Amino acid sequence: MDATDLDVVIIGGGSAGLSAALMLGRSRRRVLVVDGGAPRNRVAGHMHGVLGRDHSSPLDLLAAGRAELERYDGVAVVSDEVATATQLDSGALAFEIRLASGARHTARRILVATGLTDRLPDVPGLSRHWGRGVVSCPYCDGWEVRDGRIAVLPTTAANAHQAHLLRQLSPQVVFHAAGLVLPPAARAGLAARGIELEDRAVTEVVSNDDDRLRGIRYQDGTEREFDAVFVAPRPQPNDAVLRELGARRLRNDGVDWVLVDDDGRTSVPGVWAAGNVVSARATVPMAMAAGNAAGAGLNGELLDEDIRIAVAAAGG
Ligand SMILES: Cc1cc2nc3c(=O)[nH]c(=O)nc-3n(C[C@H](O)[C@H](O)[C@H](O)COP(=O)(O)OP(=O)(O)OC[C@H]3O[C@@H](n4cnc5c(N)ncnc54)[C@H](O)[C@@H]3O)c2cc1C
Repeated sequence: MDATDLDVVIIGGGSAGLSAALMLGRSRRRVLVVDGGAPRNRVAGHMHGVLGRDHSSPLDLLAAGRAELERYDGVAVVSDEVATATQLDSGALAFEIRLASGARHTARRILVATGLTDRLPDVPGLSRHWGRGVVSCPYCDGWEVRDGRIAVLPTTAANAHQAHLLRQLSPQVVFHAAGLVLPPAARAGLAARGIELEDRAVTEVVSNDDDRLRGIRYQDGTEREFDAVFVAPRPQPNDAVLRELGARRLRNDGVDWVLVDDDGRTSVPGVWAAGNVVSARATVPMAMAAGNAAGAGLNGELLDEDIRIAVAAAGG
């Protein structure tokens, strides 16, 4: 496919980006998906809560999505990174997209589906277990450790909610409260539901000889074994392209999120976004749904433009 005059360039080929490409490909749009190949959940062996794919590999899902797109001759997927996207001063709405490899493309619209980066708490030994013994989402990874020994390492007092969700799955939940300002009501709520409060400071997440999670070491040098450690990473949207294009953002929970409407339109005409790049809550099914809505919305917007162009050409 000649990819120099495209309808849409999709930046990011995770659940959101590939789902949008599917809708656009089925509408005979000319689409290029540029994907850096680092989906957020690549560290996880299995994904959960994804109907029809529960407990399967997240990378297998994306490989299947890419294979499905091969049926649509208007869609191409390349492994590369988008370095910049700029609006062209051409009269019509159009963008130039430059890739890290040096390739350049022009497109009528762009969809940013670049996901987010999890900024983990700075505890020695913790990051090596990320996605295996150290996880964040009770809905994604809680069932697997039901009735097990679960540690919660909160970032703020609001993470008491995470501990309460996990208490539904196991009677052995330990909430590590050192360094937190925990309101008395929150403390009372945790205690009332049988969630243990641990006030000793955590110094390290420790591993077994086979590199599996063993547990937590405390400031007094003692250790305690756990089957899983739940943390609350700080989400950092991978939104450099959106920021450079001037998309409006709103601060929520200390993070600036690009604002989109229900279909994925940002405040910048022609620039769309979907999935984790605009929402921390977007699980795989939610990212897929957002991509699906954006794909249909983009096609509708392009169709309106096609009609205007056709009418003008017909002298209307
Ligand atoms: C440890 C862990 C476990 C999880 N488990 C589950 C689970 O069990 N169930 C569930 O539903 N969800 C789970 N999630 C959440 C899941 O990862 C997200 O819902 C999903 O990845 C969001 O899809 P996305 O398309 O928005 O972003 P991503 O999947 O992150 O895809 C973004 C893509 O954009 C690419 N990209 C970024 N920047 C650029 C650029 N400049 N140019 C080109 N490409 C770029 C990246 O390389 C990546 O391939 C988990 C997350 C984590 C961290």
